[in-house]
Amino acid sequence: MDGEILIARLEAAGYIRADSPEEAALMVINTCGFIEEAKKESLGALLEARAAYPDAKILLAGCLAQRYAADFSVSLPEADGIFGNGDLSLVDQAAAATLAGKRPVLTPVPVEELSVEREPVFSFPGSAYVKISEGCSNRCAFCAIPLIRGPLRNRPIPAILEEIRGLLGRGVFEINLVGQDLGASDLPALLDGISALPGDFWLRLLYTHPDHFPLGILPRIRSDHRLLPYFDLPFQSGSDPILHAMNRLGTAGDNVRLVEQIRCALAGGRPPAFRTTFLCGFPGETDGDAEATVGFLRAIRPHWSGCFTYSREEGTPAAKIRGQVPKKTAQNRVRRLGEVQGQITGDVLAGYIGCRETVLVEEVFSAADVGGADSSGGGSYAIGRAWFQAPEVDGAVILRYDEDDKASREAMVSGARVSARITGVSGVDLPAVYIGAAG
Ligand code: SF4
Repeated sequence: MDGEILIARLEAAGYIRADSPEEAALMVINTCGFIEEAKKESLGALLEARAAYPDAKILLAGCLAQRYAADFSVSLPEADGIFGNGDLSLVDQAAAATLAGKRPVLTPVPVEELSVEREPVFSFPGSAYVKISEGCSNRCAFCAIPLIRGPLRNRPIPAILEEIRGLLGRGVFEINLVGQDLGASDLPALLDGISALPGDFWLRLLYTHPDHFPLGILPRIRSDHRLLPYFDLPFQSGSDPILHAMNRLGTAGDNVRLVEQIRCALAGGRPPAFRTTFLCGFPGETDGDAEATVGFLRAIRPHWSGCFTYSREEGTPAAKIRGQVPKKTAQNRVRRLGEVQGQITGDVLAGYIGCRETVLVEEVFSAADVGGADSSGGGSYAIGRAWFQAPEVDGAVILRYDEDDKASREAMVSGARVSARITGVSGVDLPAVYIGAAG
């Protein structure tokens, strides 16, 4: 969503968005510097753009630009300007200097007041991310984010509510709250404010540090069906020594109990959906620690998890720990967790077969789009998501509909909601059939 803020700021300053990269006089590449893979991807995008559009000016923005500005100003001649992420409202200055050939290096200090006026340009149809805080004060030993984005700054609740009200008014149905750690803000008070908003919507919470999960949100989620019982808790490991070395306060047992506590508090309603992340190959992680993580995963049985290999980030405490784990070993541990998660996801998703679910439609394909009708009588389908599937990271619903039926054809619009019957499981996705308008 920083990209959306950059666009909004540039448009407010009079810049016009180009329809295609070929037409652009200026390209802004918004980078991520969280982990090694993200850094490579960001720099790869810069080099590709440089090669493909030699005449355009390129402004390298985002947290990677912020972190390595001094280095990049010398080592990256492919960038015509460098702009950090401390104060996005200054992007028009960086853009003007870049276009003027001044090769600016602008790394503003982080501002207290977060700028957020924007259109949901990059989100899926009907869905938007809303940032409730910036920065992080948790200091997990492996993580460079506090160094890049600064300490935690919470946005005022009235400003967040105002933004959500505006998005809902523009037809957005799904609001995804983001921040480095949602639990570090006054989430119960925010949910009270959101609950007071009229109309139907989905409110999804992404990223809540398990060490200070705000249990006070559970009664609110229980009493308002619009607040999704979807919990994204980045546990990172199931081994106590590794959690301790990561500067996590809770033990694996505490984390299992937290999941049980959430399930128990919401019993009788929709069974909650969990997503987590694991970091494999943290310095000192033994085979026994890795096995403990597999056991932990089996104990909590989340719908989804993302597994990543540890990368040594300069400036972080973990970078100085002895016993760095070979990349190959870390990759094998990622693979093993992925296999176990695959089985769990398959089992959990099978529980939805036969259920009627509201699906937020993302993309619609007619039979003509996919090369004609198939043997089952129709090639037309849509891709969408049910409440337990977060955008970008989780599986999807693959929704068959009858293109010859006017009502179903007209219902299949990106960003609209429909009602569907889940008919099976296909990998991480759920085949389904259209059964009518969303109730
Ligand atoms: S809570 Fe997340 S962003 Fe904050 S230090 Fe830990 S891993 Fe990094």
